[in-house]
Amino acid sequence: MQTSGSPAVQVRGLRKRYGNARTGFKDAVAGLDLDVSTGEIVAVLGPNGAGKTTTVEILEGFRDRDDGDVVVLGEDPRDAGRAWRARIGVVMQDSRDLSELTVAEKVRAAAASYPDPRDPAEVIAAVGLTEKARARTRGLSGGQRRRLDVALGIVGRPELLFLDEPTTGFDPQARRSFWDLVTGLRDDGTTILLTTHYLDEAAQLADRVVVVRDGVVVAEGTPDALGGPGARTPVVAWDDDGVRRVERTDRPTAVVARLIAAAGPDGEVPGLSVSRPTLEDVYLSLIGEAPINDEERGAA
Ligand code: ADP
Repeated sequence: MQTSGSPAVQVRGLRKRYGNARTGFKDAVAGLDLDVSTGEIVAVLGPNGAGKTTTVEILEGFRDRDDGDVVVLGEDPRDAGRAWRARIGVVMQDSRDLSELTVAEKVRAAAASYPDPRDPAEVIAAVGLTEKARARTRGLSGGQRRRLDVALGIVGRPELLFLDEPTTGFDPQARRSFWDLVTGLRDDGTTILLTTHYLDEAAQLADRVVVVRDGVVVAEGTPDALGGPGARTPVVAWDDDGVRRVERTDRPTAVVARLIAAAGPDGEVPGLSVSRPTLEDVYLSLIGEAPINDEERGAA
């Protein structure tokens, strides 16, 4: 991580409510705080409806907020103008591009609107679309269109890049090359705020992970440290006369030794497993989907 310490994004007490008196109100964002340092890759994780897209759209200046302070590259997105917009790159979740233009035409046209664009051909190559450069964008597959979105988001050489679920619909190989692309952008000094459903993507790319649930941040940390020191405590599980037992312990070897000592003459401990919660386990417990202490946990 090459952070300079100055914040690229600073959010305090962000609130956004949807609805009206007739349909009822919904607090999509309910007092959210977020910091992204310059040069950092931050992944925002959370279940559907957590408020991620609303938050990102407010930071991009595409959506109003009801309350809170937001500073993005030194300005409030609500008031920021064209010069500010040229400094950010946006890859939104759903761009349905049915244009007659070719990939190369689109990327060149986008490049022309920025003061210091990247070379369009290099950008097209970086997203793996060189062979499709002359193809009309309406004929692209979903994954190819997504890569074009990324090309359009980075061709302006943004200081700050927003990626909203960028690899949805990618095959595993395309995801890996996309990760390389993102890592390269970070090495170039680009700050990146990414939302994703893929825990491996967050683990691979993010310097810091922020978990959002019900419109607030419920946890944040490096992918290794998320959830606090206890979250990765190993779990020993075994069957005891047909009952599943689970023990969380920093000394799993000692627990296993005890179980072996107490085992029958063959020394077998039925159903024995020792596992360490993954980022996915920690995440699921943070969003309330699968408490780590759940009996089921040890059965995995
Ligand atoms: P996420 O990106 O984490 O899935 P969203 O920000 O899209 O979450 O949505 C947060 C909540 O706000 C959800 O309950 C969603 O249904 C609601 N919501 C999002 N956009 C709108 C909208 N334009 N009008 C009304 N409700 C919305």
